[in-house]
Amino acid sequence: MMMGRIALTSAAMILLAACGDSIIQAPPERFQIATSVAITFDTEAKISAKCAGLVAEQFGSSVACADVGAGIITMPNPCIFNGDFYAGLLCHELGHHNKWPANHPG
Ligand SMILES: [Zn+2]
Repeated sequence: MMMGRIALTSAAMILLAACGDSIIQAPPERFQIATSVAITFDTEAKISAKCAGLVAEQFGSSVACADVGAGIITMPNPCIFNGDFYAGLLCHELGHHNKWPANHPG
């Protein structure tokens, strides 16, 4: 399990759907507060198990979740999202977290 602690704009609760058209609902502005939170990057199977009790029935299976106010967000590995700037940025920093040297050797 890889875990990093980064500051980001977080929601009190994040639920993402893996079914059909992806529905990502932004929380009301008052919940979009930049803060420090632990993020666990996990495999799809582990995410499904961890998030099972947190997913609203209408969303089906989950790809990410956060227990309200618990201080940890469970997310898929950002490195699997090719072409997305924010995921690419997270993947880069995850590499450094995993001891990739700062001079970026291949
Ligand atoms: Zn770097």
